[in-house]
Amino acid sequence: MYGVVTGEVDEFGQPSDDTVVVALAGDPLYVGVKLLDQQYRLEDVRLLAPVLPRSKVVGIGRNYAAHAAEMGNDLPAEPLMFLKPNTSVVGPNDPIFYPRQTQDLHYEGELAVVIGRICRDVPPEQATDVIHGYTIANDVTARDLQKSDVQFTRAKGFDSFCPLGPWIETDLDPQTFVDGVRIQTHVNGDVRQDGTTADLIFDIPTLIAHVSSVMTLLPGDVILTGTPEGVGPMEVGDEVEVSIAGIGTLTNKVAQR
Ligand code: MG
Repeated sequence: MYGVVTGEVDEFGQPSDDTVVVALAGDPLYVGVKLLDQQYRLEDVRLLAPVLPRSKVVGIGRNYAAHAAEMGNDLPAEPLMFLKPNTSVVGPNDPIFYPRQTQDLHYEGELAVVIGRICRDVPPEQATDVIHGYTIANDVTARDLQKSDVQFTRAKGFDSFCPLGPWIETDLDPQTFVDGVRIQTHVNGDVRQDGTTADLIFDIPTLIAHVSSVMTLLPGDVILTGTPEGVGPMEVGDEVEVSIAGIGTLTNKVAQR
């Protein structure tokens, strides 16, 4: 069941104490919705992934200069695209499973864009028209397999490698991200990534134009906008939190498969 989360989120991604969830009938991306006369406190509900992409999650690599540098890569001349299967999507507090095929599992905290309508060849100046909202992603990556396979499919495609949530923020002005929104990743409470969307090499309209010049985007498709510097390993038992100011905090624990 879908719901509307009310209330504000602070600069550290924490919702206010009076946050409630109002239940919805329908599906916001496909059939329209109706507010129901049912309301729950946030702590009393279990949140699922706020969207299950019908067709694809499009990842963008090396979209922050400092992250490209830490990986030893040159800056891309145009956005570097890859796909994650929709079966990699899980929700807040769902486990990230550590596959037996890797010895180097990494977190990548990212701003995610949720597409709201079918579109192709979107000009950058019309990109905001096709955005349903914004959420938070952890672009989980088996770093050793990414290097050995060359193709990213296995390294980024395992089940549970795309936590999304905790919800979709639908009321943000895209200019906010150009001005700069703080994005942080904590592992067991220690800060590992502390970046700003002001450092995106290719901004969100450019990414939507680029991706949609290659493939049709459908409602519920998700674009991951890249990760700031500070990527690193996760171990079984670790708790990973990705926070984006004004959106929220996405928390997942790593579990043995
Ligand atoms: Mg990434």
